[in-house]
Amino acid sequence: MDNLFDVAIIGGGINGTSIAYQLAKMGKKVVLLEKNHIACEASSAAAGMLAAQAELEQDGPLFQLALQSQSMFPTLSVELIELTGIDIEYVNKGMLKIAESEELALEVKKQVTFQQKWDPMITWLDSKEICEMEPALSGNVAGGMFLPNDGHVQPAKLTEAFAKAAESFGAEIREQIEVVSFIFEKGHVKGVQTNKGVIHCEQVVVATGAWAAKLMRETGLDLYINPVKGECFSVKTEAPIINTTIFSDKRCYLVPKRNGEIYIGATMVENRIDNKVTPEGIRTLIERATQLVPQIKEAAWERVWTGIRPQTGDGFPYIGEHPSLRGLYVAAGHFRNGILLSPITGKLVAELLTRSSLLDQKLLSAFRLVRHKQTVG
Ligand SMILES: Cc1cc2nc3c(=O)[nH]c(=O)nc-3n(C[C@H](O)[C@H](O)[C@H](O)COP(=O)(O)OP(=O)(O)OC[C@H]3O[C@@H](n4cnc5c(N)ncnc54)[C@H](O)[C@@H]3O)c2cc1C
Repeated sequence: MDNLFDVAIIGGGINGTSIAYQLAKMGKKVVLLEKNHIACEASSAAAGMLAAQAELEQDGPLFQLALQSQSMFPTLSVELIELTGIDIEYVNKGMLKIAESEELALEVKKQVTFQQKWDPMITWLDSKEICEMEPALSGNVAGGMFLPNDGHVQPAKLTEAFAKAAESFGAEIREQIEVVSFIFEKGHVKGVQTNKGVIHCEQVVVATGAWAAKLMRETGLDLYINPVKGECFSVKTEAPIINTTIFSDKRCYLVPKRNGEIYIGATMVENRIDNKVTPEGIRTLIERATQLVPQIKEAAWERVWTGIRPQTGDGFPYIGEHPSLRGLYVAAGHFRNGILLSPITGKLVAELLTRSSLLDQKLLSAFRLVRHKQTVG
């Protein structure tokens, strides 16, 4: 087997595969190394919401990154189906960010004013209007913000499609290979040591999500990545009961997927890496979801699952080069928005590695690996 590459990417989640796709498309000889199989962790657990405006509530580099990434999905979905035959199930029917009390309504209304600067189509709907739009909603909601451009995709399919698209440009995807350490020569990365031998390369990208801090520690770089576990479940109904994504500030969302499933998520368990789905987690979600959409009680049970979100101290992902070791890069820590941010992450990392003149250095600097303030968000 040829073990000499331009770039080795570690991690077969949404970010590793997106980066592999962009770099392979630019003509780089790429290998992607995944310790298990493609999309085995957070990238298949996600609900796939592209919630730039429902999730992020203030302007800044992350918000701008999210808007840019969100705008890439319509073209990307067509490009990926042409290259791979995989339909990423991009749905763009919008999202309702629900206010369940008058107090929350005041906050959401402020958000409407702020978000309208970026998308004038965003509107406030009162209780009557919102129930006309989504009749299955409980009459107890005080109103909500309608975000017509916050769509969603099927995350596992998107990850799979990125990987296949990368292969179509010559990238090698190697599963069941774990990277255990890096190989350096005079301060420059020269390869990685895996449990199945050495891979030689000139550049390495660590895209191992919640596991990135562990791998980087041996390089003297202390990244702050808090693993935040999330549990979800899904149901099916004979006929669709909701049309748009329903997103509540009380940590519950319902995402109606193209295959008729409604994904319902998600719990937030700090500092936890395990794949246990707990009765308590699912009970809480059922309670929240049925308060929003009572008909969920009658729906057919489909499945439960869990995943680990990689949360950084300031909520910004790490995207950049190691401060002292040349050729070693990180793209990890995308927390609740890794699916949304995956297209732009792939593009930025590919531009960074190829020293492209298109690279937005100013934007990227906000995501550098060494940042002044590292507080838990
Ligand atoms: C319940 C839940 C709901 C979510 N909902 C959304 C949503 O609606 N929208 C959204 O945008 N985001 C959402 N997210 C967040 C999103 O899923 C993550 O931010 C994103 O998947 C992170 O992708 P990643 O590629 O960085 O990491 P991962 O998907 O975790 O991939 C990392 C990969 O690295 C591999 N790996 C680790 N160590 C090694 C090693 N040493 N050698 C080789 N391979 C290694 C792992 O096996 C894994 O496959 C959600 C997350 C969860 C858990």
